[in-house]
Amino acid sequence: MVKALSIEEPFDIKTTNDYNLAWSIASNVLDPEIPCVTIGELGIIRDLNLDNNKATVFVSPTYSGCPAVLAIELAIQNALLEAGFETKIKRVLSPPWTTDWISEGGRKKLKEYGIAPPVNASSKMSLFGKTEVECPRCSSQNTEKLSEFGSTACKAQYRCINCLEPFDYFKCI
Ligand SMILES: [Zn+2]
Repeated sequence: MVKALSIEEPFDIKTTNDYNLAWSIASNVLDPEIPCVTIGELGIIRDLNLDNNKATVFVSPTYSGCPAVLAIELAIQNALLEAGFETKIKRVLSPPWTTDWISEGGRKKLKEYGIAPPVNASSKMSLFGKTEVECPRCSSQNTEKLSEFGSTACKAQYRCINCLEPFDYFKCI
């Protein structure tokens, strides 16, 4: 028993390390559209399987119409290939990704980057049923929507009435 354990143990440790390595490489890939956040922070990696050096990454696309989805998948694949993993990407459409899956750290980075992080679907709405978007620069909630589409289809353009700065708002879905 003891002997069997000592043989198995290093193997298990190696597999765990490889798995952790593959997972951290995949989740540290930067979003090609918003290069301040990693896709791990956006919460779009659902799962990862590792069979020897064959990695299968299960990814939930953010906005289905978003051209960044393919770019994200290619970026994950390239990052893992460089580390010596054969990689397959599988799209997971259900349950669909929502902006609620963005981590706290990811929200903070979006704000620092000048993009208003999405207001949680569950969080407060104003009396008129309008989402209150906070200015990423001065935190004022006195903001107005300029356009449904900002620099990309995933963002709406807003302006802060308090500090007059225009900014992008990461739209909720
Ligand atoms: Zn402001």
